[in-house]
Amino acid sequence: MEGKKTCFFCKIVDALLIIGALNWGLLAAAQVDLVAKLLGGMTVASRVVYGLVGLAGLVKLIGCLCIKECPACKKQQ
Ligand SMILES: [Zn+2]
Repeated sequence: MEGKKTCFFCKIVDALLIIGALNWGLLAAAQVDLVAKLLGGMTVASRVVYGLVGLAGLVKLIGCLCIKECPACKKQQ
């Protein structure tokens, strides 16, 4: 862990990836989809969350392949 502060954007992307990973892990382990449980299965709200998690993954992937570090805070992707 480095002492550098990460920007708001990096925090959001990381938080969404963690939410997605935990939700998927929980689904595998306990067959509980927490997002669906909280927001309803395939409602607009749950689809927004799934969509944002997917988008965060895409941002991370593109960041890893092309950008290498965040332009705002220099965090390694
Ligand atoms: Zn950043």
